[in-house]
Amino acid sequence: MAEWGIWTANDGGFVETQLYSESAADHALQRWVDEAAEDDKADVLDDLSVVRICDDHEEQPLESCDECATEGEEDEDA
Ligand SMILES: [Zn+2]
Repeated sequence: MAEWGIWTANDGGFVETQLYSESAADHALQRWVDEAAEDDKADVLDDLSVVRICDDHEEQPLESCDECATEGEEDEDA
């Protein structure tokens, strides 16, 4: 199942996951943006983005999944 999350480039991790459509993710992002604005965390806002989550690794973005990259390279070691 396709899953999206709110990624923070600052921490290199997701602040929210289990969003099962792009529009749900956009809504969630908007909520984070609103909260950050209230808390005066403008620097945080720049780091937040909606990304597809890797189908196999829920802690990783699909586009740049370290786990998949590692598996691809080191398959023969396992
Ligand atoms: Zn992966």
